[in-house]
Amino acid sequence: MTQNKNIIIANWKMNHSFDATEEWLKSFNKEIEGNNNLPEIVLCPPAILIDYCDELLLGGELEILESKGNNIEELEESQIDKLATDIRKVHLGGQDCGYDEKGAFTGDIAANMLHDAGCKYVILGHSERRKNHFESDEIVQKKIVTALKNKLVPILCIGESLELREENKYLDFIKSQILSSIPKNIEIEQLIIAYEPIWSIGTGKIPSKDQISEMADFIVGEIKNNKDLKINGLRILYGGSTNSQNTAEIMSVNNVSGMLVGGASLKAKEFAQMAVLAK
Ligand code: PEP
Repeated sequence: MTQNKNIIIANWKMNHSFDATEEWLKSFNKEIEGNNNLPEIVLCPPAILIDYCDELLLGGELEILESKGNNIEELEESQIDKLATDIRKVHLGGQDCGYDEKGAFTGDIAANMLHDAGCKYVILGHSERRKNHFESDEIVQKKIVTALKNKLVPILCIGESLELREENKYLDFIKSQILSSIPKNIEIEQLIIAYEPIWSIGTGKIPSKDQISEMADFIVGEIKNNKDLKINGLRILYGGSTNSQNTAEIMSVNNVSGMLVGGASLKAKEFAQMAVLAK
């Protein structure tokens, strides 16, 4: 179970228009221009903006390739894709996917659609989906299986309510979320687990460094000690009320490899500052 490169993920939720997306990417790219010491950066916009983001990112990548002397017109599409992917600094992710491959699921989006639109990642089991769309751990597990089949890296969100924390039942709850959400006995190349205490999401309340550390160690321990869970690359993220002021402290926690960012990711400059600090 190896920890690879740090990662920072923007979850835009149901925000931003096409125009605002273009502005955001322009401003974000300007902020990180020339910086090659960055963590992996993932942008999860609303589904309708994914393809547009991919197109805008590709446009920027082609400009860079041309400025380095590549004659794009002489290259085949697959060669262009390869070169562009090699220099890509911002990867894309979905905010959810269906658990079936296709079918009569009005309003849902299939994992293969996300993959075709340029996604590498997908957020699954976010507490807003668990609450507003009644998603159980069993549904989340089915979605993870479908995401993996479609070459998407799942970003599994788990986290306890304030009540469970105050009643000191939070570790048992997290353990049950882990055991019921992660598919057993299948080899998982990469899994990201975002620990997002519900009481911290969008509230400005943030757990202490010790509380985050306790949870990150607990999650790693539970997974390591369970022989039915076969995860080769596991990364634990923290999410909930993060911003450029608290990034450095959170990133200094042992076993934390990154952050899932909601509100603060809507501002390109703020998110770029966080990305630089999350290295
Ligand atoms: C989230 O909803 O995943 C999240 C972390 O939100 P925020 O950063 O706004 O608390």
